[in-house]
Amino acid sequence: MISEVARAANRRRNATWRERHRERKREQAQRWYKKHKQQARASSRRWEQANKAKRSGYAQRYRATHPEVYKTWVVNNRERLNEKARLWRAEHIGRAREIARRSAAKHPGSYARWKAAHLEHARALSRKSQKRRRERNPDAIRVARKQWREANNDRLREIERASRIRNAINQKRLLAMWQQAHPERVRELKKIHGQSRRARKALVFIEPIIPSVVFARDKGECGICKSVVAIDSPWHVDHIIPIARGGKHCYDNVQVAHAECNMKKGSRVIAA
Ligand SMILES: [Zn+2]
Repeated sequence: MISEVARAANRRRNATWRERHRERKREQAQRWYKKHKQQARASSRRWEQANKAKRSGYAQRYRATHPEVYKTWVVNNRERLNEKARLWRAEHIGRAREIARRSAAKHPGSYARWKAAHLEHARALSRKSQKRRRERNPDAIRVARKQWREANNDRLREIERASRIRNAINQKRLLAMWQQAHPERVRELKKIHGQSRRARKALVFIEPIIPSVVFARDKGECGICKSVVAIDSPWHVDHIIPIARGGKHCYDNVQVAHAECNMKKGSRVIAA
C-alpha cells in the first residue's frame, strides 16, 4: 500500500520530468530544424499538400483566436498578398470571375460604396487594369471598343455630354484660380463684365479686354463723338461692330466711348 504522501510526491516528480523532457525535446527539434531548413520546409509542404483541410482548419482557428496578429500580418504583407491574388486570378480567370460575380450578387452596392470612398484609388486601379488589358491584347480591345460604340450610341452620347460638362467645370475652376491670383485685373474686368458675358454668350469672346488699356490706347478720346472723355466719368468700352451684329470681343473691335454716346448708339454701327 503506497501512502497518499508518496503518491503526491510521485505525481510531482513525474510532472517535473515531463516538463523537462518537453523542454529538451523542443530544443532538440529546434536544433534539427535550423540544421535541415530546406528539408523541414519541403516536408511541411508535403504534409500541407496531403492535409489541406486540416491545415486550413488550423489556419482558420488561429486567425479566429488571434485576430490582431492576423490583421497586422495582412497589413505587413499586403503587396505580396495582392501579387499572389493577381497571379491566381490570372491563372484561374473563369473561377475568379465567377467568385467576383457571386460576391457582387451577395453584397449589392458594396463596390459602388468602396469606389465612392476611394475615388482616386479606384480610378488609378481601373486605368492600370485597362492598360494591362490593352498591352496584352491590343486588337481584341480595339474590336470590342468599336462594337461597344456601335451598340451603345445613346450611352456614348451621354458620356460625351457628361465629359463636356466636367470640362466646363474644370474651366470654371481654372478661371476662379486665375481671378484669385489677379485681383486688380479682375477689378478692371468687372467694369466690362456685362459686355464680356454677352460676348461669351454669342461665342465671340476672343480676349479679355482691360478698360484702362483701351483708354490709354485711345488717348481718352470718345470713338463716337471724338471729344475728350474724363477718366473719372462713367465711360464705356464700346464694341465698334456690336456683338449683336457679329462683332468680336477683342481689342481691334473696342473703343472708349461716353456712356451717353454708347447708349444712344445701341446696336447700330457707326463708321469710324
Ligand atoms: Zn462721346
